[in-house]
Amino acid sequence: HSQDSGESTDHALHLLQTVFGYPAFRSQQGQIVDHVIQGGDALVLMPTGGGKSLCYQIPALIRRGVGIVVSPLIALMQDQVDALAEVGVRAAFLNSTQSFDQILEVEKKMREGDLDLVYIAPERLLTQRCLELLEILDIALFAIDEAHCVSQWGHDFRPEYIRLSTLHERFPHVPRIALTATADQQTRDEIIHRLQLENALQFVSSFDRPNIRYQIVEKANGRKQLLDFIEAQHNGDAGIVYCLSRKKVEETAAFLNEHGISALPYHAGMELTERSKNQARFLREDGIVMCATIAFGMGIDKPDVRFVAHLDLPKSIEGYYQETGRAGRDGATANAWMAYGLQDVVQQRRMIDESDANEAYKRVQSVKLEAMLALCETINCRRVHILDYFGQASTPCGNCDTCLSPPVSFDGTVAAQKILSTIYRVDQRFAAGHVVDILRGIDTDRVKQWRHDQLSTFGIGSEKSEAEWRALLRQLIALELIAVDYENYSALRLTEAARPVLRGETKIQLRQYKKAEKALKHKRQS
Ligand code: ADP
Ligand code: ZN
Repeated sequence: HSQDSGESTDHALHLLQTVFGYPAFRSQQGQIVDHVIQGGDALVLMPTGGGKSLCYQIPALIRRGVGIVVSPLIALMQDQVDALAEVGVRAAFLNSTQSFDQILEVEKKMREGDLDLVYIAPERLLTQRCLELLEILDIALFAIDEAHCVSQWGHDFRPEYIRLSTLHERFPHVPRIALTATADQQTRDEIIHRLQLENALQFVSSFDRPNIRYQIVEKANGRKQLLDFIEAQHNGDAGIVYCLSRKKVEETAAFLNEHGISALPYHAGMELTERSKNQARFLREDGIVMCATIAFGMGIDKPDVRFVAHLDLPKSIEGYYQETGRAGRDGATANAWMAYGLQDVVQQRRMIDESDANEAYKRVQSVKLEAMLALCETINCRRVHILDYFGQASTPCGNCDTCLSPPVSFDGTVAAQKILSTIYRVDQRFAAGHVVDILRGIDTDRVKQWRHDQLSTFGIGSEKSEAEWRALLRQLIALELIAVDYENYSALRLTEAARPVLRGETKIQLRQYKKAEKALKHKRQS
């Protein structure tokens, strides 16, 4: 494919080397650049850090006119423009942070043909004023960055993105290149459909990030485990710690600082100036640990982030992969570490249930959460599991926790039967804590009040710890033998799939419980 268009390839390669200072294109960059230079539409799916920007920057320099980059990341535009200016590319941006005078100045430069690239926020681009200006200009291309924002089911949905289909209608001869790091088939189809990219060539890069080591550990005391992990493996390294709530972000940052680790908080509830200041420090200084909600990170280009940690369960594998993908962009060894427990499952399920979204949306969110749980509970290679989710076949990687220290599985049929029959005997009306108390034979007030100490299953599981029973319960939830009824105090219920196990017709393999400290000790030695 790239051979039959040697001339543009040569020119593109020349710019790559002389302007950007890189010796060669990475993976599919060359083909993409070529295709767009020749006026074709493209859909580019490349993992975070894969090098999407050059795919539109170089064609914009080669094609006549100005390249328009649609991006929702207003906070990053200044940095992007500055970085381009440093290598001599004439770039500017248009967004709501500018004064009217600044906007007029950019518009003037555009009219005079003095700009190679202009980054525009979607809401600005869609104004009558902007569209009319674009109509009188030569436009090299439209790059639609973070194209998954068009997906209503995704976690970054932006309503204005849907209206970007107007670009195709108003500028039918201008090539469009949509780019994203989120690549499940559903999102891909939605991008094509909503942006009218039916004729676009699709470039799907390998999603593998071989230098990232995936580890998912049982959560006991998450914060303490995080501290141990950082002290053991990442002393003085830059990293990101994701937490679900703003409060937990603040607490975690404070906790790490108390223990001598330079940590900063970042979440949407902070003052903009404070947030920007922390982001700038994270980017410019060495060895800062950013404690953040998922508000942080989209488009952040810091090559030497050595670890990404999750103290709470992400909502989906897409989210998890995008967040962990911020580690090790420079190609050197990096860690994706997560601590996860039964409480995470309960919390995420409850959030879905209690949200105001419609039923269809909730269903999609549940399916995504199930997939995330299955990744946490897998006894096979994490990477194989992740790549499979993105439609890519692979073989065990040797660089994730399950490959390095394979979980021991055992015939969990009897243990499962103990749990399932206890749930049945309490009429499927009680939550995990109570069920575990019964199994372990603990006569709490609640147990006595309901006379559950009289049940035949009372104390039949006294050989296992509470943490062990919870780990088993979680696996049965992930395997969908048990459902959690969030509308009724998180009561555990049996699903259809539980019956054959209860009757002894089906055997199930479960993962042997491994104490958190043990898992960590192993990592330290390796
Ligand atoms: P993405 O947008 O896909 O997350 P970027 O476009 O920000 O990725 O690129 C990630 C990093 O890789 C940047 O530091 C960029 O300069 C670098 N990079 C991109 N293409 C190449 C290349 N062909 N050779 C060397 N480095 C590259
Ligand atoms: Zn593996």
